Amino acid sequence: MTAERKQRRLIAIGSGKGGVGKSTLTANLAIALKKAGRAVGLVDADIYGPSQPVIFGNQGEKPIARDKKLVPIESSFGVPMLSMGHLVEPGRALAWRGPMAGNALSQLIDAHWGDVDTLLVDLPPGTGDVQLTMLQRYKPMGAVLVSTPQDLALIDAARAGQLFDQAGVPVIGLVENMAGYACPHCGEVSDPFGKGGVETAAERLELPFLGRIPLDLAIRQGSDRGTPPAAGDDALAKPFHDIAAKVDE
Ligand code: ADP
Repeated sequence: MTAERKQRRLIAIGSGKGGVGKSTLTANLAIALKKAGRAVGLVDADIYGPSQPVIFGNQGEKPIARDKKLVPIESSFGVPMLSMGHLVEPGRALAWRGPMAGNALSQLIDAHWGDVDTLLVDLPPGTGDVQLTMLQRYKPMGAVLVSTPQDLALIDAARAGQLFDQAGVPVIGLVENMAGYACPHCGEVSDPFGKGGVETAAERLELPFLGRIPLDLAIRQGSDRGTPPAAGDDALAKPFHDIAAKVDE
């Protein structure tokens, strides 16, 4: 392990299944930590759906290599980043197995991260090869797990938590995403995926509960437009900043 990497905190963001908002959370946490003064970098290791280039609005950019190592792309929010989506055509990495996926992860992590002190790694959902490589080769300082409040998503999240636990990587805490939908017309709040399930699960698993992010159309629109909510300073930015502060403790 190089001296450079020793000082750098690696934090993995995982989920039991796809589509629960793991990438959205990772991007917004990175921006919130940057705003809080951290030198934060982001690795998008989700080979099944690398969405960070869309969220950061740098699709189509290609990182250059120097001394056989990749140079991260500077994003508009001051967060240097590398994504599987910058390395391969969308969909190409889907067929990757074990060593290929692990090697791709290494290329992203063993890059020229310079003075980055906190590296967030957006993992693929579930408990596959990339997660195992991440745990065995890089031993992150901790992992954040995101889930929607539904039972099925929670069961999968608990399984992902077990994987980290067995590898001796502490779970920093659980985040509930897509909780409470405020109708844009009448303001009435409904809970399409239930409510409070993640907090209850965190209690049961004796893990910290880090916070709740509402289901809000503006979060989806901002992510698609390259303007993640944490970059702003309205009410939607707050939960991300609060969670980032807890992750940074
Ligand atoms: P994952 O990384 O877990 O596959 P994503 O972060 O890509 O999930 O989110 C899946 C979709 O849901 C994206 O279109 C994203 O913009 C949207 N999304 C995520 N979180 C929210 C939220 N809290 N409110 C509204 N849309 C959301």
